[in-house]
Amino acid sequence: MVQGVPIVDGYLINKNPSTGKVISKVPCTPLDELDTIVERSVVAQVAWAQTPTETRIQMLRDGLLALARTESLAATIVAEMGKPLAQAFEEAEFAVDKGEFLDILQASLAPKQFGSSVVVRQALGVVTVLSPWNYPADEILLLALPALASGNTVILKPSEVAPETGKLVAQALQTALPPNVLQLVQGDGAVGAHLVNHKAVNMIAMTGSSATGKKILQAAAPALKRLVLELGGKDPMVVFGDADLDKAAADAVEYSLSNTGQVCCSIERIYVDMSVYEDFQQRVAALAVEYKVGDGMDRAVKVGPLVSIMQRDIVKKHVEDALEKGAKLLHQSSVPESTGEDSSFYPVTVLADVAEGMLMYREETFGPVVALTPFDGTEETAIQLANDTEYGLASCVYSKDLEKARRVASRINAGQVGINCYALENMNVACPWVGHKSSGFGFHSGQEGFHNFSVPKSLIFTPEESP
Ligand code: NAD
Repeated sequence: MVQGVPIVDGYLINKNPSTGKVISKVPCTPLDELDTIVERSVVAQVAWAQTPTETRIQMLRDGLLALARTESLAATIVAEMGKPLAQAFEEAEFAVDKGEFLDILQASLAPKQFGSSVVVRQALGVVTVLSPWNYPADEILLLALPALASGNTVILKPSEVAPETGKLVAQALQTALPPNVLQLVQGDGAVGAHLVNHKAVNMIAMTGSSATGKKILQAAAPALKRLVLELGGKDPMVVFGDADLDKAAADAVEYSLSNTGQVCCSIERIYVDMSVYEDFQQRVAALAVEYKVGDGMDRAVKVGPLVSIMQRDIVKKHVEDALEKGAKLLHQSSVPESTGEDSSFYPVTVLADVAEGMLMYREETFGPVVALTPFDGTEETAIQLANDTEYGLASCVYSKDLEKARRVASRINAGQVGINCYALENMNVACPWVGHKSSGFGFHSGQEGFHNFSVPKSLIFTPEESP
C-alpha cells in the first residue's frame, strides 16, 4: 500500500494529514551509503551475539525506559499520521509497557536440554526491520525487540510516512545499546528493497501490506533469507441472532472506526443474522453518530484524518462503488469545514447490504467505514462467508451459545478469533500474532513467534560429559 510520500532532492516531505502542512523534511539515506551501514551491523553483531541474553534484554528494558521519558512521542504520532491524541498516548503506553513481553522473550531464548543434548538459539546475523505507519512506534518494537534480544543487529527503516516517530524510537533504544547494534535509515520502499537484496542482510522482518510482502518474499527467495511478514487483513465479524447485541454493536462500531479504520485487524466485514439485521442496523447507526471526525489534537475527536489524500481517495472510491452497486447508506458524519485542500478527512460512514461484487467486500478498505451484510444465521454460512477472503488475520464471533461460537471459531481460517470480544481486547501477551493466508508469512510474538528471530542449534555431548 504505497502512500505516495513525495521525495524532493533526497528529502521525505513529511506532512500532517489533518492540515496538509509540512512538519519536517527528512533526509533519505543515500543508497550508496547502505553498504557501509550494513558492514557496521555485521561487525557489531559478533560481540552482540556473545553478550549474555539477560544483559541484552536488560539493555532493551533500559531503552524502553528512555522511550517512556520521550515526551514528544504521542504528539509526533498525531502530527505524522493523524490518530487522535488519546489513541496516540495509548499506543505510546503500549509501546513501552513491554515488561511481560520481554520476560516471555527471555524464557523463549533459554537453552533446552534433552538427555545429553542441549538445544541453544543462534542469532541469524543482520536483520532489516521495515515498519508501517499505522502504529508507527509499537510496530517497530514488536519486530526490533525480538530481533535484538536474539543476538541480531538491526537496521531499522521506519515508514516513510512516520520518519520522526521512527527516529524517536530508535534514538531511545540506542541510548541503552552498544554502537551500531541498532542503526536507523530513512527512505521509502527503494531503501527497503535495497536492504532486502543486500547479501549481508540475513533476515527481513516487515509489517505492511500484502502487496509489499509478496515483493519481499520474491526478492528474498534466491538467498533463502529468513522472513517474518505481518501483512494486511479483511477481518470478518459474525453476529448470530442470539448474541448480546449491545456488546456486538458497540464493538462493531468501535473496531471498525478505531485509528480511522486503519488497523491491520480492523473489522471490515460484519455478517449479521437476518433475524436481527434491522435491529442491528439501527443500533450501529445510533452509536456511530457519537464519533466526531477532526484533527487528532482536538480532544473531542474520536476519528482523525486518513493518513494521506491517496488513502482517503481509496476509501471514497470503495464507498461510492458500494453505493452505486446497491449498498444502503445508514449514516455519514460531517468532516471539519475549515480544512485546506491537503487535509485528508473522510466522514464516518455506515453502510448496510454490502455484498459480493463491491470493492469493499474484497479489498482492504482501511477507512472509517462500518460495513454490514446479512446472512441466513446458520453456522455453515457464517464459516463460509468469514473464510471467503484471501486474508486471514483476525476475526470475531458473537453468540451466547459458547459451544456454537467455539465451533465456528475453530473453522475460521485466521490467526486470532475473538469470541464475544474483539481479539485484541483480551488477547494474552503470551499469544503469537499470526496472519494466515495472505495476511502473513512467518509471525511474531509469544514464545513461538520469538523463535522466528533465531535458529535452533543442537549441541550434542557424550552421556559421560553431559552438562
Ligand atoms: P507498505 O507495505 O506500504 O510499507 C511497509 C514498509 O515496507 C514501509 O517501511 C515501506 O517503506 C517498506 N517497503 C515498501 N516497498 C518495499 C519493498 N519493495 N521492499 C522493501 N520494503 C518496502 O505498508 P503501509 O502502508 O506502511 O502499512 C499499512 C499496511 O500494513 C496495511 O495493509 C496493514 O493491514 C498492514 N499492517 C499489518 C499489521 C499486522 O500485524 N499484520 C500491522 C500493521 C499494519
